[in-house]
Amino acid sequence: MSERYDVAIVGSGPAGLSAAINCKIRNKNIILFGNENLSNKVSKAPKINNYLGIPGIKGEELKEAFKKHIDSMDISITPERINAIYAMGDYFALMVNEKMYEAKSVILATGMEYGKALKGEEEFLGKGVGYCATCDAPLYKGKKVAIIAHNKKEEEEANFVKELAETVYYIPMYKDIENLREDIIVVRENPVEIIGNDMVRSLKLSNTTLEVDGVFVLKDSISPDQLMPGLKITDGHVEVDRQMATNLKGCFAAGDCTGKPYQYIKSSGEGLVAALNAVSYLNNKK
Ligand SMILES: Cc1cc2nc3c(=O)[nH]c(=O)nc-3n(C[C@H](O)[C@H](O)[C@H](O)COP(=O)(O)OP(=O)(O)OC[C@H]3O[C@@H](n4cnc5c(N)ncnc54)[C@H](O)[C@@H]3O)c2cc1C
Repeated sequence: MSERYDVAIVGSGPAGLSAAINCKIRNKNIILFGNENLSNKVSKAPKINNYLGIPGIKGEELKEAFKKHIDSMDISITPERINAIYAMGDYFALMVNEKMYEAKSVILATGMEYGKALKGEEEFLGKGVGYCATCDAPLYKGKKVAIIAHNKKEEEEANFVKELAETVYYIPMYKDIENLREDIIVVRENPVEIIGNDMVRSLKLSNTTLEVDGVFVLKDSISPDQLMPGLKITDGHVEVDRQMATNLKGCFAAGDCTGKPYQYIKSSGEGLVAALNAVSYLNNKK
């Protein structure tokens, strides 16, 4: 059987990192999923004036300070994007494609994806629109696929999809492409709408329309209700109480994903509260 962690923390921004250090201080066996760069929303901030005690700090410097802190506590980041989390009663199953991690409790700290869904994205979700290229690539064997990629790391996903699909169009939402197969067609236009009838038929871009069987929209985060079936969402945010507990027993949430204001210190504070309550939950379970 795979190792069952006490707490799985999903997200490596200020909320997830604060949850991680506090669970570790309380001697819990944790796994922290996220990004080795921690959070783009931290490293890209030009100047931060509202993080108590360190006025005027640059995002990149704050990221380094966070990194040093977790390193000093021997906390490492597992650089995987969780695709789905299932509440199994006594534990949670966290899926990365076909791989599964198990944990007794979960802290969601996935941040907020500011980008609005594309026209047609929600309508055709599961009908040709997907968020995990490696999971769904086999469905498109010999077919045509478009990948809208918000991050460099999706190049690897696209390369894998091209091993199966006949044609892969790659629509990067960032500047420099580093490591994409040459037989993938790069289209530098903005996506406008996903069109179809019962299934996806085409992707309309600013100047052209691509005839495709599938569209993958690959962003850093997936909306929490898609990530975790049964999770209660209100106004696009995970609903939590003062303990940062969600409606699912043993599942807590912290940071931007629980609602406004979207700020570092609120996120790290909530990460602390979520961690301490996850610890109490575990201790009461014994
Ligand atoms: C340019 C900019 C400047 C800002 N300036 C300020 C400021 O001056 N002061 C301030 O207080 N706030 C500022 N903010 C807001 C601040 O960045 C956010 O409030 C804060 O980062 C939220 O922290 P978080 O931990 O909730 O989420 P995030 O920092 O968004 O981190 C979420 C992490 O979770 C990971 N993740 C998501 N889904 C998954 C998944 N399924 N599996 C694995 N990992 C996943 C993501 O990759 C990401 O690393 C700024 C934001 C931006 C963009």
